[in-house]
Amino acid sequence: MLHVNPNISRVSVSPASTMTAKARELAERGVKVVSLSTGEPDFDTPKHIVDAAVRAARSGDTHYPPLDGTRALKEAIRRKFARENRLDFAANEIMVGNGAKQLIFNALMATLAPDDEVIVPVPCYASYADMTRSVGGNPVLVSCAQNNGFRLRPKDLEAAITPRTRWLIINMPNNPTGTVYSRADLEAIGDVVLRHPHVWVMTDDIYEHLMYSDVPFCTIAEAVPWLRDRVLTINGCSKGYAMTGWRVGYCGGPRPLIEQMLKVQGQVSSGICTISQAAAVAALDGPQDTVVRWREIYRQRRDLVLAMLAKVPELSCHRPDGAFYAFPSVAGCLGKTTAGGHRLQTDADVSLSLLAEQHVSTVHGSAFGMSGYIRLSYATDMESLTIACERIQKFCAGLH
Ligand code: PMP
Repeated sequence: MLHVNPNISRVSVSPASTMTAKARELAERGVKVVSLSTGEPDFDTPKHIVDAAVRAARSGDTHYPPLDGTRALKEAIRRKFARENRLDFAANEIMVGNGAKQLIFNALMATLAPDDEVIVPVPCYASYADMTRSVGGNPVLVSCAQNNGFRLRPKDLEAAITPRTRWLIINMPNNPTGTVYSRADLEAIGDVVLRHPHVWVMTDDIYEHLMYSDVPFCTIAEAVPWLRDRVLTINGCSKGYAMTGWRVGYCGGPRPLIEQMLKVQGQVSSGICTISQAAAVAALDGPQDTVVRWREIYRQRRDLVLAMLAKVPELSCHRPDGAFYAFPSVAGCLGKTTAGGHRLQTDADVSLSLLAEQHVSTVHGSAFGMSGYIRLSYATDMESLTIACERIQKFCAGLH
């Protein structure tokens, strides 16, 4: 019999990957599925970034890398934080990880004792809660309602803090809602955290470059500088530079924390692929015009999806200001029966029936800690989005 670590038994299999696998199965049987369930850009990595990787591979940059990141990449990250976030980190306050994901894990693994608590505003990226569980901690989920733009209310944060709280995790622009916090929102959250010196803040800024409002991006260490000694700022190349497969994330934070995170990484993976790190230098230091062009394309896609979903009386969709997801409420579909005879009791039923009957793959909101919603990724071309939204319209029109 296999003995499973009880902490690992508490971790669920990613519902987004399950939906993507189901969609792939249907596609392999010849069904024309439109996939809106994956969370990655449909663009290829820009050429100058790929060229830098090829150059690195050819010039023998193929040996074990330093655990914390190559000197060239750490310097590029320092410049990035200074240029875009007005944050000044010393080289030993920065580390590179195997995607932002590994850095989140490193930080939780390095800091949580059994039953320590991590405050996770929901809806959110499912890994925050699952990683917390996997290292023996307890996620404390705090609901952020649609009628407050899915933003964390300071009073709800205050109420969730206990002597066991170790972290508050913020993610903005948010996956799955696209919510962006203003500087004032962050100051109000910072005020609460400042009153509780045992609470640290981890901010996941991976969607920083994908913002569609006029409000400039501001991260909490910039908005509340006096909190700096308790903030870990995580970012990466995956989303903004279409580099999901290269696996480069990075972070800046207090040296004592980085030291402990390096111990974790040293046992799990060692340093990050040298060739990917060379590519990341080109991404951060190189021309940023592709990022600007893609942002405009995503904005048009978002507007198309919002306009088409607005025609469906059963759905109500908050306007996402960033990332590449729409997160409509499907409350108006629940309790009804589909044209294909499926009774819809939960958001998972909606997502599954939409795939089975109209061949559109989405992810149910409960996978992100908030039921009654579905998440659609609009990181795909306009034609596919139009077809998908027409199918969603047809699906809802067929409900009775
Ligand atoms: N954070 C969020 C909010 C995400 O949505 C994702 C990817 N879906 C990640 C982190 C993972 O990023 P990376 O590819 O850098 O590990």
